[in-house]
Amino acid sequence: MLKLYNTIGREITEFKPIEDGKVSIYCCGPTVYNFAHIGNLRTYFFEDILVKTLKLNGFNIKHCMNITDVGHLTDDGDDGEDKMIKASREKGMDVYDIAKFFEKAFFEDTQKLNILKPNIICQATKHIGDMIKLVKGLEEKGFTYISNGNVYFNTTKFQDYGLMAGLDKQDLNFGTSTELDEAKQNPQDFVLWFTNSKFENQAMQWNSPWGKGYPGWHLECSAMSLKYLGDHFDIHCGGVDHVNIHHTNEIAQTEAYTGKKWVNRWLHGEFLVNKTGKMSKSKDGFLTLNTLIDKGYKALDYRYFLLGAHYRSQLTFSWEALDAGKSALKGIRSRVQSLMKESEVFNINKISDKAAKYKTDFENHINDDLNTPRCLADLWDLLKDKEVSSGEKLAVIEYMDKILSLDLLVAEKELCTDPELLALLDKRNIARGNKDYKSADEIRAQLLTKGWIIKDSPTGSSLERV
Ligand code: AMP
Ligand code: ZN
Repeated sequence: MLKLYNTIGREITEFKPIEDGKVSIYCCGPTVYNFAHIGNLRTYFFEDILVKTLKLNGFNIKHCMNITDVGHLTDDGDDGEDKMIKASREKGMDVYDIAKFFEKAFFEDTQKLNILKPNIICQATKHIGDMIKLVKGLEEKGFTYISNGNVYFNTTKFQDYGLMAGLDKQDLNFGTSTELDEAKQNPQDFVLWFTNSKFENQAMQWNSPWGKGYPGWHLECSAMSLKYLGDHFDIHCGGVDHVNIHHTNEIAQTEAYTGKKWVNRWLHGEFLVNKTGKMSKSKDGFLTLNTLIDKGYKALDYRYFLLGAHYRSQLTFSWEALDAGKSALKGIRSRVQSLMKESEVFNINKISDKAAKYKTDFENHINDDLNTPRCLADLWDLLKDKEVSSGEKLAVIEYMDKILSLDLLVAEKELCTDPELLALLDKRNIARGNKDYKSADEIRAQLLTKGWIIKDSPTGSSLERV
């Protein structure tokens, strides 16, 4: 039985999908004005464990993720700086190219971490019409007001406002705004559509019934999940920082619009912190996956490190802890390599009761609100058990790795990092996307002659040494 936490209600309960055998899940995606830091990646890792656990339980998954490519402000108070414009200025690139560049970098990172790509990926800038439709609907129902040129959601009109945050309205954290927005009728109100920006040369603007402008911070997730997953779906996820504001506001505007309950279950991943506190995209000096790789770690060393903590516990990053993860994973790999020399992988359905107990324990632990630390302990116990044969061990490890995704039975592969060859791989993927199979095949052959083979997988494509 799969049991999961629900931030609404703050309890672990049995998971039951709305429709038998199917699960629809929405995960708030990255803002693409910079690289993801390893804290952001912790959240996507936790969502990957969730999706894989749902799959292990036999569910068919519709997994949707947005890409926040609209230049968002630091908060609704409009006192931040448009991050996309800042990045565009710093890199000397057009804002749309900035977004594409960092979206690609994001999926390269997630691929290295063996994180499955969602089957629906939607960019905010391609869904402005859907967002306008939502604001119009809210306006017709009397949930909005216009002040100082911007359209606001009136939170006092939505009875259950702040229910998920589990706090009294006056306790809600109103974001990072240092100056209170004078145009708001109530402190919790938030902007649905801006026509009045503080910034000159606002790069991304669209026409709307309220004038030329751009959507508020929270709108895209409501509009796109309504479009792709419908007005009632199973699971919505994100980092824990989204509970009080972003998700609270998403719920208010969506349920006000549809007039009914929206999402059945909310899961939030706790933060990765460092010794000086929270890791944040807007602070300098954050760590990216590539920083770790440049320092000689493998992406999967970081995945192993993440598996060691429960997703609802804060995790402190330190180089010492990452080193410990790296050497533990090395230890597992060398044991698995020895097992592979001793035996073939057994059929998982034909293993002894003793070996099957490890499989069952592992299932029980992952089904217990994604208890990955216990799952790792199961793996270690299995490796050490002298009464289970090598072949049976391999069969159970192969099964466990569906969730752990540490490539335990895969011989270490050499991945290509040469930018010229990777650019060729991109060209081939574009050709394939355009159904130009002739060019795609030619590039594949060209790469082969250079000693690299293209590997396509659900996480993306890569180049491996032949
Ligand atoms: P962003 O790209 O900044 O919108 O963040 C992407 C995701 O990362 C969101 O779900 C955030 O809640 C999450 N996030 C941000 N900082 C951290 C952190 N330090 N640890 C874990 N998750 C984080
Ligand atoms: Zn969101």
